Amino acid sequence: MRKLLFEILVKPPLTEDEPTVDDAAVAELAHAVDRQARRRLGRSLAIRHVDAGSCNGCELEIQALNNAYYDLERFGFRFVASPRHADLLLVTGPVTHNMRDALERTYTATPAPKWVVAVGGCARDGGCFAGSYAVSGGVASVVPVDLHIPGCPPRPLEILRGLLALLA
Ligand code: SF4
Repeated sequence: MRKLLFEILVKPPLTEDEPTVDDAAVAELAHAVDRQARRRLGRSLAIRHVDAGSCNGCELEIQALNNAYYDLERFGFRFVASPRHADLLLVTGPVTHNMRDALERTYTATPAPKWVVAVGGCARDGGCFAGSYAVSGGVASVVPVDLHIPGCPPRPLEILRGLLALLA
C-alpha cells in the first residue's frame, strides 16, 4: 500500500498535455468565420447536433465551442433543439443500428437547403467501431454528407475551421 501511494505521488499524470491554443490564431479564425457567415448567411446558422453513437469525446469538443473562450454564437451560429429549425446537421460517432432510423428521420425533418457535417473519424467510416455488430457505418452510408471534419476527436478550432470551409 505504501509503495502504491509513493508511486502515485511521484509519477506524472497519465493524461495528455493540454494543447496550446494561440490567441492570435483564434482571433484570426474568428474574424474569417464571422466575415463568411455574414456574407453567406446574414449572420444566422442554426445547428442541430446529432449523436449517432459517439463515445462522447467529439461532444466534449463541440460543447467547448459554446464556452466563453470560443463563444460560437458571436459568429451567428447557434445550436437548436429541433431539426425543423436547423440549417445544418452536425453528426458525431459511427451510426449505430439503434440510431440509424433517428438520423434518417432527423435528416428528413430538416428543411432544405441543408448541410450535413460529419465530425470525427467515427463519423467518416465507423473509426475504431467499424465492423462492430452494433454499427451501420459512417454517416455517409445513411445520409448525404457535405463535409467531413477529421480527428479523434477534432479540437474546437478544427471544427471552426470546418465550418469556415463550408461557408467559403
Ligand atoms: S472520433 Fe474519437 S472521440 Fe469522436 S466518437 Fe469516435 S472515438 Fe469518440
